[in-house]
Amino acid sequence: MIMRWPFILPAFVALFLTLCFGACNTNEHKSEKPFIKGVYGNPGTLLKAGYTFNELGVNALFVRSHSLNDELYKTALEQDCKVFVEFPVLNGKQFLKNNPQCLPIEPNGQASPPADWFMGICPTCPDFKEDRRQHLKSILNRYKVDGIFLDYLHWHAQFETPEPILPETCFCGRCTDMFSKAYHIELHRDSIPEIANQILSFHKKEWRQWRCSVLSNWVTDLKQILLSKQPESLLGLFYCAWYPDEYDSALYRNLGIDINDFAKQADVLAPMLFHQMKDRPLDWIGEYTRWLDSITNSIPPENKPEIWPIVQAHNHPGVISPNEFREAMLQGSSSPSSGIMMFSDQSLLQDPRKIEVIKELYLTDD
Ligand SMILES: [Zn+2]
Repeated sequence: MIMRWPFILPAFVALFLTLCFGACNTNEHKSEKPFIKGVYGNPGTLLKAGYTFNELGVNALFVRSHSLNDELYKTALEQDCKVFVEFPVLNGKQFLKNNPQCLPIEPNGQASPPADWFMGICPTCPDFKEDRRQHLKSILNRYKVDGIFLDYLHWHAQFETPEPILPETCFCGRCTDMFSKAYHIELHRDSIPEIANQILSFHKKEWRQWRCSVLSNWVTDLKQILLSKQPESLLGLFYCAWYPDEYDSALYRNLGIDINDFAKQADVLAPMLFHQMKDRPLDWIGEYTRWLDSITNSIPPENKPEIWPIVQAHNHPGVISPNEFREAMLQGSSSPSSGIMMFSDQSLLQDPRKIEVIKELYLTDD
């Protein structure tokens, strides 16, 4: 045994160096990626106002899908900007006008009313899913993009207000049938209020799990389309940046979001860190980002999602001063973030001092 140590020891040293070098290389590789200096919304308005992305230091556009056009796309390429497309998933306002079969249903059997400005949709509605699938395909057939960022990926609710609106949905026959089959739970009663009562009284845990799995399936299906068309593109997820225990666990309970599951599926997590809309202090932005990083530590490094927060520049509710905006940007771009963007291009144009903040922050070296 003693005689073998001289052989084993160098082997250990070699292994250690290999691991260290590998890790160093990984870090080196990561640091080579440019920090994402984004603008969210309809960045074409900045061009119309006479700015160029280069002079602002912007290197990535996060464009609402309906704002993407050939001219903007061409300019983005000319100015070396990455193009990420915001893709609305469960925003039902338009579709529901002609498709009442997709309305989200509350335990009393009635359709859930709009939650402030937002109108969600029943996520199991096959007509709507097909509509979204086709829409994503049409974008990817037309433009080669750097990534698709899914938005409105939650069950019907409103979280962009200090007082959230959190209805219990959806108890349509389709949803409760699917739930019943998935969990082999027989639902005896035949009216929606009775079925809802049975579920919420006796099968709440399974119901919450099932609702999260419905959203996960949306992510899986849309990711499949993305990878089949443009395997190099990234999948990003915009989502409500609540901690899991806030509002009686409403992230999981009402919105149907299992953040650990999102973290496993996404290439990029883009928490919506709108401090004033959510009535939070500015340092919540950095604090949340570090927390998010900590919960992704169990994911293997090659699959660990990047974190690119979106912060508030928007003057509603109240006013975000240029200094406050600067602080929000600094908090959101500090480690472990590898990118940042703001909501939205319009807010910058409404107060050109915020454009100066962007230039100051974005034109510095990485
Ligand atoms: Zn439903």
